[in-house]
Amino acid sequence: MSQTSIPKEAELRNWAARELSAKGVVSLEKMQRLASATLGAKSDANAVLACRRDEQHRYLVDITTDMTVVMQCQRCLQPCDVDLRTSATLCVLWDDEAANDLPANYDPLISGDVTNLHALVEEELLLALPAVPMHKPEDCGHSGTEFGNGVEAVPAQREKPFAALGELLKDNATKT
Ligand SMILES: [Zn+2]
Repeated sequence: MSQTSIPKEAELRNWAARELSAKGVVSLEKMQRLASATLGAKSDANAVLACRRDEQHRYLVDITTDMTVVMQCQRCLQPCDVDLRTSATLCVLWDDEAANDLPANYDPLISGDVTNLHALVEEELLLALPAVPMHKPEDCGHSGTEFGNGVEAVPAQREKPFAALGELLKDNATKT
């Protein structure tokens, strides 16, 4: 299944006037800031851009993205998969002065005639990165070990209850 790539650049006002849309992928190699903010990605980013104009003749882009990236779990320090999923309505503006008049459900996209779509998709994904990435508790190498260095301590503790019980019984037997 080969997927089409999102084009690198587009004239989004033109796209909005013609109600064009694009659906495709952007590879991590084309998003260097995202690449350096993560340990990698499980696959390309999926993105859908649907352009339109509203009643006030604003130029709008409904954009959704998703990608699974790999980050370092802040609990066990091992790599963990992080699902990113974003959805926004962007309003294409010439400068940020116009951004003050925007309805709250629109996000400003300051752009000249031509917009770099790869950077746009990357920006959405960057905003969705968790500040403190972590495994789910059941998947985390550090779960259940409050003290010590996690991974090694788990099997040792599993063996111990029986050994400790044996010692305890022996102790009691000799003491009484
Ligand atoms: Zn973890």
